[in-house]
Amino acid sequence: MRLATGSISHTGLVRGNNEDALLVDGAHALYAVADGVGGHRGGEVASRTAIEALRAAVAAGRSVQDAITSANEAVIERARGDVDLTGMGTTMTAMVVAGGRQVLIGHVGDSRAYLLHDGALRRVTDDHSLVEELVREGRLTPEQAESHPQRNIVTRALGLDEPVEVDVYPLDVVQGDRIILCSDGLTTMVRERDIERIARGETDPQRAADELVDAANRAGGEDNTSVVVIDVLEVDVADDATATVPVVPPPSPARIMAPAPDVPPPSAARDSWPKRVRNALLLFVPLILVLAIAVGGVGFYARRSYYVGFAGNRVVIYKGVPGGVLGWNPTIDETTPIAAADLTPIDHDRVAGGAARGSLGEARRFVDRLQAGIDATSTTTTTTTRPRATTTTRPRPRQRTATTRPAAANR
Ligand code: MG
Repeated sequence: MRLATGSISHTGLVRGNNEDALLVDGAHALYAVADGVGGHRGGEVASRTAIEALRAAVAAGRSVQDAITSANEAVIERARGDVDLTGMGTTMTAMVVAGGRQVLIGHVGDSRAYLLHDGALRRVTDDHSLVEELVREGRLTPEQAESHPQRNIVTRALGLDEPVEVDVYPLDVVQGDRIILCSDGLTTMVRERDIERIARGETDPQRAADELVDAANRAGGEDNTSVVVIDVLEVDVADDATATVPVVPPPSPARIMAPAPDVPPPSAARDSWPKRVRNALLLFVPLILVLAIAVGGVGFYARRSYYVGFAGNRVVIYKGVPGGVLGWNPTIDETTPIAAADLTPIDHDRVAGGAARGSLGEARRFVDRLQAGIDATSTTTTTTTRPRATTTTRPRPRQRTATTRPAAANR
């Protein structure tokens, strides 16, 4: 997997020191943010101790889960015997590349991992915080949580207990995906839809990270803010079969590799192609059938309905649907003697938009109504001699007046 990254950790506008720490380790494809808490310099020490322990453990070939566990032990160990550091802790959200198209997110605390895929931002991690637990239990709404005074109370962190429960999220990524790791300094200051907008709008990962921190500071910068942006430039698709073997070879990788993609054992490799073809057919044949029925149904509907429209300047009855559907274009079924100029503006608009959609009978009745309207208008026109531009060009009124007069003369 080929990645590009950008990162920044900023003290913000209110705090005197930066208790966040971040890690960008391209050599081990390892990325992390940690947000420390604790009096005096405790927070700083906790986050840095945890990040260093994580890096060392992954470099030694341990899984992300084991590495976060050992980071927890390192923070506890560091605090032991130092009253200034007692009670310090830190969050940890780390990403490693598992191989192929998979990355793993290891997570403790209320820092977050997001995935931007196809322009949409999705949060990957659950916060281990009091308010989020209340939201999950339905006791707070997400809106109430956003402004809750205790929103920065963390319910799970490194440095508090041994062992620590580590959440591991396997994530399949594709080229063009963007993963964002961030401390709560970003997410308490900037709404998710604004994070999404910024992450989507800026292609360069470093500028995206900078802009996210700028947004947090523009909103007040009340906390330290750390952001790591990781762009997936290329996944090892051809390498998919071997990619399920983790890049780091821990003795028992199965535990964290979680739902392993179904890869046939080497002995079965020979008949894996026909099997794949068969699986594909099993999936696609019903799909194609459903599609064919749908297209046929639309075509049937499109071809058995009628409407009244214009063909040039003439009102006609079309067979089909105005504009056509899926390549089923309407055809002229019947022409009428009515010209566009005969119509009132309202009827003209109705016909232009495709009027009386439905059966042939409905279309014919509509045409009859149009004709009746024209006849009524032309009678009025001749009797009142109201000057109308259209009446002079119409042949119909003249014919009518012509037929009434000879009829009277014949008597
Ligand atoms: Mg924070």
